[in-house]
Parts: sequence; C-alpha cells; structure tokens
Amino acid sequence: EQIANQISAGEVVERPASVVKELIENSLDASADKIEIVIENGGKDLIQVIDNGKGIRSNQIELAFSRYATSKIEDVNDLYSLRTLGFRGEALASIAAVAKVIAKSCHKEEKEGVKLVLNGGEIIEKETIGYNKGLEITVKDLFFNTPARYKYLKKTSTEAAHISRIITAAALARPDVKFTLDHNGNRTITTPGSKSLKDVIYSIYGENVFDKLISVEFKDNFIEVSGFVVEPDIMRSSRQHQYYFVNGRPVYNKFLRLSVEEAYKELFGIKKYPLIFLNIDLNPILVDVNVHPTKREVKFSRGKDIKKTIKSNVKNILIKNKE
Ligand code: ADP
Ligand code: MG
Repeated sequence: EQIANQISAGEVVERPASVVKELIENSLDASADKIEIVIENGGKDLIQVIDNGKGIRSNQIELAFSRYATSKIEDVNDLYSLRTLGFRGEALASIAAVAKVIAKSCHKEEKEGVKLVLNGGEIIEKETIGYNKGLEITVKDLFFNTPARYKYLKKTSTEAAHISRIITAAALARPDVKFTLDHNGNRTITTPGSKSLKDVIYSIYGENVFDKLISVEFKDNFIEVSGFVVEPDIMRSSRQHQYYFVNGRPVYNKFLRLSVEEAYKELFGIKKYPLIFLNIDLNPILVDVNVHPTKREVKFSRGKDIKKTIKSNVKNILIKNKE
C-alpha cells in the first residue's frame, strides 16, 4: 500500500508546483474564496495552502489521505459532467507518500478542529485542535524518502516560477477567489478576489499590460468566449503569458494556441506572442479533460471548428481595435 502510494505519487507529484496545483484545486472544490499559499525554497522545503472552504470532518480526515478516497463522485455518470476539479482521490495520498504532511482542518459544521500528522504516508499523530474554518495543509521536505526524485528538482527560482504560473492560472480562472503567494517571506502574488478578471490581470501584470488590454467577447452555437488579448506592441518572446480556460479550468490545447496566434500573425506579421486571457465555454461533451491525470492538455472533438471560430472572431476584434 505504501509502495503503491509512492508509485502513484510519481504520476501526480512531479514537482512542488504539482502539489500546489492539487491543493489549490481541492480548496476550490471545497468552495473556498480565500486561498493563501506559502512556500519556502521554491516549495522544496515547505508548501503550505490555507483555505476557508468547508473543511474535512474530524472522522473523515484519515480517509481523505487514503488512496482512491474521493467525496466527489457519486456515480459513474458524474465522470461525464464533472463540475469539480479533482475526482480521482489520489492527490492527498500521493502527496503524503512522498513528504511530511500536517493537516489542520475544521469542518464548517463542527465545533472543534483536528490535526493529522503524516510522515511518508504513515499517520504519526492525530489530535483535536481549535482552528478557523477550512483546511490548512503543510507539506515539508518533498521527496525526502525518494532521493532519486529529489535529485531531479530544479533550482529554487525555477521551481518557484512553476508555482507562480500555477497560481496565476488559478487566479485568472477564478477572479472571485482571493489568492496570495508568499515565497521565503515575500508576498509575490495578491489578487483582490473582486470577481473582475481585469482586476486580477492588473494585480499580476500591473498597469503596462492593463492599459493595453483588448476585450474579447463573442458567442455562437457551440462556443462562448470572453476575456482579453493585448495590443501588438506589448507582445512577448514566449508563450508564457497565454492562458486559456475551458469551462473554468486552465488548459493547454494546440487548436486554442494556434487560433489567436494566427490571427495576430496574419494581421501584424510579428514573430512574437500575444498575452492571452480567454475563457472558453463549451458543451462538456466536446471536451476530454482526462487525457492525462495531471497535465493540462485537453482534447476537443471539432477542434478545427473551434480554432476557426476563435481565430476569425479575434481577428475581427483586432481589426476593429486598430481603427
Ligand atoms: P479528490 O480531490 O480527487 O477527491 P484528493 O486526494 O485531492 O482527492 O482529496 C481527497 C478528499 O479530501 C476530497 O474528496 C475531499 O473530500 C477532501 N478534501 C481535500 N482537500 C480539501 C479541502 N481543501 N477542503 C475540504 N475537503 C478537502
Ligand atoms: Mg483533489
């Protein structure tokens, strides 16, 4: 069982950023509207995620850390209409298997909180505590018991950059949720939780980008798109600032990537990459999010149609903006 968890951890937990991603998704699934993330040394020494969601009941906390325990699927049909982000019930068990974890929880309907301490997946302490409503998970010494994987971690700034991107994507996807990130004691991300995507972009990218935003809004039979692209004079040398959200999840998809880029290329002929913040709402039947348990690559049926629609609409918007 312990070994099985370590193996499964290899799928779910590749690096500190994967831990952050799983914990944030759990917080969102628990309806938190405030999520504080604290990391030390790029998450290699410490990752802490504190939320104000519904919490885990005291008598369910061990279960939450066991494999394939999920409270999120009631029947198989749920798999097709998934509203929640996580549903495999692997994340907490996998993380706990390769780190030292302290969970402090207080369920919204309970008077007392509970603290659970695990070491490499083994429960070493459980006690009653007072705690604010929600869940606080502390993950220390990631890969302390799997040295071969520890060796593959990159330098602090690289791991921290991966974490930043995960949090930025989550914050852009959920402007209604307040996110903070502290790295080695410095606050590097604070979003307002004001419900406005524009406010999130401002809080992360500042005035220079904010002043250059072009609003994108259109819908047709099977797709509804909203968000922002930018004026061509602030295009970047990498795709790092391109964010697509499909039905609320940050995703990667080749057709999406090419749709906006081709619109820019055909209009401006610049070999640089626009910043992109686009929400795409699609009938879930057209989306397969399950291509890989943790990667954000999605597959579409009718990918080419989706690309065509986005490209031509964005192109029209850019042309209007030029005039
Ligand atoms: P999954 O998210 O796939 O269900 P996880 O291993 O990530 O599996 O979490 C296991 C269970 O622990 C969840 O189904 C949920 O019931 C509970 N849980 C995890 N994180 C939180 C949280 N932040 N707030 C409340 N409950 C949580
Ligand atoms: Mg989960």
